[in-house]
Formats: sequence, C-alpha cells, structure tokens
Amino acid sequence: MLPQFFESALQLIVRTSTDLPPDVRAAMKTALVSEPSGTRSSQALTIIAENIDLAVNNEGAICQDTGMPTFEVHVPVDANQIWMRQQIREAVKEATRRGKLRPNSVDSITGRNSGDNLGPGTPIIHFDQWERDEIEIKLILKGGGCENTNAQYALPVELPHLGRADRTLDGVRKCILHAVWSAQGKGCAPGAVGVCVGGDRTSGYLHAKEQLFRTLDDINPDPRLAEVEASIMSTVNDLDIGTMGFGGKVTLIGCKIGALNRLPASFFVSVAYDCWAFRRLGVLLDAKTGAINRWLYRDPSHPIIPMLDQSGFTRTGREVTVTAPLTEEAVRSLKVGDVVLLSGRMFTGRDEVHAHLAKHDPPVDLRGSALYHCGPVVVKEGEAWRVTAAGPTTSIREEPYQADVIKRYGVRAVIGKGGMGAKTLAAMKEHGAVYLNAIGGAAQFYAQSIKRVDGVSLLEFGTPEAMWHLTVENFPAIVTMDAHGNSLHKDIERESGVHLEALGV
Ligand code: SF4
Repeated sequence: MLPQFFESALQLIVRTSTDLPPDVRAAMKTALVSEPSGTRSSQALTIIAENIDLAVNNEGAICQDTGMPTFEVHVPVDANQIWMRQQIREAVKEATRRGKLRPNSVDSITGRNSGDNLGPGTPIIHFDQWERDEIEIKLILKGGGCENTNAQYALPVELPHLGRADRTLDGVRKCILHAVWSAQGKGCAPGAVGVCVGGDRTSGYLHAKEQLFRTLDDINPDPRLAEVEASIMSTVNDLDIGTMGFGGKVTLIGCKIGALNRLPASFFVSVAYDCWAFRRLGVLLDAKTGAINRWLYRDPSHPIIPMLDQSGFTRTGREVTVTAPLTEEAVRSLKVGDVVLLSGRMFTGRDEVHAHLAKHDPPVDLRGSALYHCGPVVVKEGEAWRVTAAGPTTSIREEPYQADVIKRYGVRAVIGKGGMGAKTLAAMKEHGAVYLNAIGGAAQFYAQSIKRVDGVSLLEFGTPEAMWHLTVENFPAIVTMDAHGNSLHKDIERESGVHLEALGV
C-alpha cells in the first residue's frame, strides 16, 4: 500500500479548511479595495480579510461550517480505490478529531450527529481512472449556508424581475442573475457560482459544483460560455447586493459555466453558489508512495501574502456598546446601521435548539438574552471546552420559530447572518428585539471575542447544534433589523430587484 497516502490526504484537508487558495484571496483583495472605506461592505470585508489571515496563522478553520467534504480523485488504472476510500475517510475522521473539520454528518432520520464526519453519503468521494502514473485528489469544502442558496431552473421559465428565460444562452444568463439575486447575503456574498447548462437534475447539479474546481481567473475554452461568464461578471455587481447583502459594489467574485447534453424535453440550468470562504485545493501524489509531489491551486514555495497590510477591524468611535442581558430600552434605542459591540452572556441556538424551543421550555432563562445562530467548532481540553471557530449561520432557517421564541422567552437580540423575514420583524417591533448581523464565515475573528465557555445545554444534539453558554467581549455586529420595523435586508432586496429588472432587458 502507499505509506504516505493517509498523511497526504490529511494535509490536504487541513490546508483546505484553513488556507484560502491564492486566486480566491486575490479576488477578495480586489473586493476589499473596491468598496469605499467606512461603508458597511468595507467593514465586513475588513473583518473577512482579518479572519482569512487569522485562520492561516492559527491553522484554524476559516469558517466554522467546514461543509460537505467533496473529493474528486483521479487514479491510475491499477489503483486500489477501496483502500484509498478507506484512507480518505480515516483522514476526514482525524481532521475532525483535531478540530480542523466540524462534525457535520447528521443522520437525516434521527438527527444524530455521527461526531466524526462519517456516515452514509459523507464524505463524498468520486473516483475516476486516468492514464497517468500519479494520483490526483481535489477537495472542496462547501458549507450549508451557500449550499442552501443553490438553484435549479427548468427552462422556459418566468422569472421575477427578469421576465421569460428561454432555452437560449440569454435564458441561462437570466437564471444565473436570478440565482445570485435570490441568494442576497444568505450565502455569505461575495460568492462564486458554478453553473451547468443541461444534463438531468442530478448530473446538472454535480457538473455545476465541478465548475467550482476551476480557478477564478481562467477563461472558458468554449467561447460561447466564456461570453456568458464575462457578461455576468461585467454586470452582476450592478445589483448592489454587496458583502453579506449589506449593499455594495462587489456581489460575485466568479462565474464558471459548463454544459452537458440533455434530453429533448428538458433544459435545466443548475447553479451551485459558493461563498467567499471558497475552500478548494488539490494535490498530486506519487503513485508508489502516496507522498505529495505537487499542490494544485497553490505554490508552497510562494509565501502567503497577508490579506491586510494595515490593522484589521478598528473602532471608529461610533460603535454602540451593549451588555447582555439586554433591557428593552437599550434594544429600542438601536437602529438599522448601528455597529454594536456586544459583551456579556450569549447563548448559541440554531436548527435543533429552535425546534426544541417550539415544544419545550428553554434549559436556561432567556429573558434579555442574545441568541446567536451559530454552530461553533468546540474542542474539549481536559474538563473545559474551548471554541475554536464561531461565525454566524444563516438565520432565515429559523424564521418559522423565531417570532415565538422572542415572544415566549423574552430574547432581545438575535445574532446571525442574512437576516430574517416579516414574521420575525413584526415580533421584534412588538416585543422589543433586534437582529444583529455578524459577518458570515468570520469564524476565527469571532472566536477571539469569545472569552469563556460557561456551560452547555442540549449537547445530545451534537456540538454544532447544542446550546453553548458563552461569555463574549466586544463582539461586533451590525443592526440590520431594528425594533421599529426597519429591515436593511428588505430594503436591499427591493432595491436590488429594481437593478435586476434593468439587467434583464
Ligand atoms: S462562509 Fe457562510 S456560507 Fe460559507 S460555509 Fe461559512 S457560514 Fe456557510
């Protein structure tokens, strides 16, 4: 067998989770300098840049959601794929044990987290043979927030703001614009899209995701698709969705399109949306030893250039400092656009916690609390827990529950990303609560604000879904929904809809 294969696979996973590839860094750096300083998007991008630097320096997960590990492996014709699959699974397990991957494999029937990222369907490993005497492994870690914003269209279709999308490349263009517009900030914009024209529903999505293995700066060898890619990239930023959906000049950092043949009756356009935390790397291995001969997408002999050449997130003096538990008065004094520095007690709660609270009393007193939509990476050190990555998750998933949770338990601040809907906004107005938008993916940055883990409830849901009791200090976030019925998300969606209409013509 190949003595170094396991170690090479492990290195690939750790590096992919902690170090963004150079083409993505370059695109994010361009985004950073494109936004006028002092804007919401510029502040968000500064936090993202600081987070990218922290992740590589700490060898910590760039984002706490380390996604669905998806491996594309090419092997020589005589390779033992069964053994390699086993080794890759063992490497995933070890990376999870070391806190480089969050346990993300959940039994879809019982909700039980396997704890090691192994289970039916996870990780995803695709093998292909080739006639080369080396092994290629490519890995992408694509998180749930952006995965949930994927979209598939069956053409012809009538699209809001864009009119009819026909079975033409112009119809394809409209579908891509619609997908990016629908994602708003929920997929942690600025993102990149992989697109497949054609195929069936299954192969279309797969081929769309495969496009994300292309570098952001390559040029499509098919001039017809290259033209659509260029057209999207030259116009999409006019949507003004911006980083995290805060409004701004950069909404997309890449558009990569492939095509598959289709059945005469079907014309699918499948869009795989990836967030700014666009984690993909690859290695070429010696077929005899499994040692890494070469990295793909990065050159280890080139030093990593830090994203920031100045200090990261700095206070302007206009920030509002608040301490939890929060009073109604403090919360009602906040308005959309305020940058808040939150200190005190914070509880995490996401999908399982919200479903639980719909039927049971909370395990802690939530009156005046700050409830953080977050599934952190947490490691046990002796008897104590330490949070190593803790960015926000997409809040809209909790929309069916949030209004009731605010009303019944007196939650005063909901923290997450991407914003929430009309029901939650109405509950915030009626009961006195705000929505604080943290910067999606900034897991290392926010982990720094968490000073202590004071306890945990509902650990039976698994570490990402448990309710963690945290003490935080100066946790920065932006008020995007206030207690007076205002929502930045609603405004940006409406305004970008007008821009979308103009692009559809
Ligand atoms: S950056 Fe955002 S969308 Fe991407 S994996 Fe992290 S939380 Fe999910």
